[in-house]
Formats: sequence, structure tokens, C-alpha cells
Amino acid sequence: MRESAPDLVLLDAEMPGMSGYEVCEAIRADATLADIPVIFVTGHGETDAEVRGLEAGAVDFITKPVNEALLLARVRTQLRLKSMADELRSMATTDGLTGLANRRYFDELMRREWQRCARTGSSIALLMADIDHFKRYNDSYGHPGGDACLQAVAKTLTLVARRPADRVGRLGGEEFVVLLPDTDVAGGQEVAEHAVKLIQALALPHVASLTAEHVTISVGVAVCTGQDMARHDPQSLYSAADHALYAAKAQGRNRWAAEVMG
Ligand code: GH3
Ligand code: MG
Ligand code: MG
Repeated sequence: MRESAPDLVLLDAEMPGMSGYEVCEAIRADATLADIPVIFVTGHGETDAEVRGLEAGAVDFITKPVNEALLLARVRTQLRLKSMADELRSMATTDGLTGLANRRYFDELMRREWQRCARTGSSIALLMADIDHFKRYNDSYGHPGGDACLQAVAKTLTLVARRPADRVGRLGGEEFVVLLPDTDVAGGQEVAEHAVKLIQALALPHVASLTAEHVTISVGVAVCTGQDMARHDPQSLYSAADHALYAAKAQGRNRWAAEVMG
């Protein structure tokens, strides 16, 4: 299931080794699989078996012998519901303008990765990127121009977050975040440098900027190593990145600054 990400599972209640109920419970307990609907197929038409299946997390129940028309109708219903649920989930987790993770979802990802990195004793890095003189950009190019700029910056930031676990989000306005699990100070700085350089290389004209002739960003990097995680939390990683970002702005913008949490 992890490899093929199905939209629906038809599950036999009685199987050798592990029962369908146990399989269903295991699916529900796995965050990456939990949203996949399960329809039980069983030999008994008894209420007990049906209740047990529903309690294990099944969405529907079909008894053998399977009637083709009935099966197809129920499968279609569940697929339609799944597609609606997927769309709602996507709307609740992504930023409409850029398609990046929204703040709420990013917070959740961050909590999850923080716990995982703390458990494995690995470090975590957070980049906070802010477009330089963006108010002036809007004043010169209008709000739609500003929005297009935000989309271009968002797309570029997704290019620097190269590992599968790396995540990019939009905090709001012209502020973006990049989460880099299992990444140390040197790694975080390298990605920050790459981000600053790639945005510069986009060469989007910004005539009103006081920093350059093109759109630039400033980036704050915060890193927390495994042994220090017990004394901190995701919120303090945000604060440290924000603090570093402020330093990058103060040092002249179009650059990054880093802060390691001790
Ligand atoms: P600095 O270099 O110090 O970051 O200056 P700045 O002007 O970028 O910083 P500031 O935070 O003062 O301004 C952010 C501006 O971003 C304010 C607003 O005009 C613009 N902005 C915020 N959200 C959006 C949005 O969704 N779309 C557009 N087009 N502009 C936005
Ligand atoms: Mg800002
Ligand atoms: Mg700004």
C-alpha cells in the first residue's frame, strides 16, 4: 500500500496469519495510510462481524458471494467520497497562491519532524526567507505583479529543498519557510546560500529595491542538534530563524545569517 498509494482497499475479513480486522487497524494506525478507505468482504452476513469491521475502521461491508453490480456501485461511491476528501484535505493544507504548505500544515510537519529528529538524535534546520523591499515591489508593479513575484520565489525555493523530507511553506505575506530534517549547520547554510543565489539568478526586475536591481531575499537559518532538542521546541526554532533573518536584513539584505540553538 505504501508503494502504490491506492484510493480504496477491498479486504477479506478472514485471511491466514493476520485477520482483516488486524490489517484494517494497522492501516488506520499508519499516518500515511490512514485516509485510505477500506471495504470489508466477508463470508458471514452477521451483525457481529459487520460491527467488528466498522470498529476496525472500515467504511463499508460486502458479503460473499459478491454481486458485481452492488460491488461496483459501492466502490464508485467510496472513490467519489475519497476524491472529495482528498480535495478538502489539500485545500486545508496548501496555500492557494503558491501551492506550498500553508502555515497550519507546516506547523504540523514541523512538530512531526522535530519529534522524529529528537528520537533519532539527528539535527534539524529551518530556513526563514523574506523578500527584500517587497512593499516597494508592490508599489511599483501592483498587487498582481507582487503575487506573480511570490509565485516565482515559491517555485525557486522548492528547487533548493531537494531531499524527499525537505518541505517548503508560506507563512503568510512574503515570508517563506524551508524545513530541512536531518540537516546540520553546514547543510542549512549551504541550502540558504543556494536559495539566495538562485533568487538572484532569477533576475526579476525590481526597480524600487534599495538593495539590488533585481528581486532578492534574506534568509535566517536556525539549527538545533539532537542533544539540544529536549531543551527546546519547534516554536523556539521559528524564533531563532526569525532572529537570524532579522540579522541578515540588518547586515544589508540579499544574504543569509545563521543561529545555532545551544
Ligand atoms: P524588508 O526588506 O525589510 O523585508 O521590507 P519589506 O517591504 O519586504 O517588508 P514588510 O514586511 O514591511 O512588507 C511586506 C509587504 O508584503 C507588505 C505588503 O505590501 C506585501 N504583501 C504581503 N502579503 C502579500 C500578498 O499576498 N500579495 C502581495 N502582492 N503582496 C503582499
Ligand atoms: Mg516580511
Ligand atoms: Mg520583506
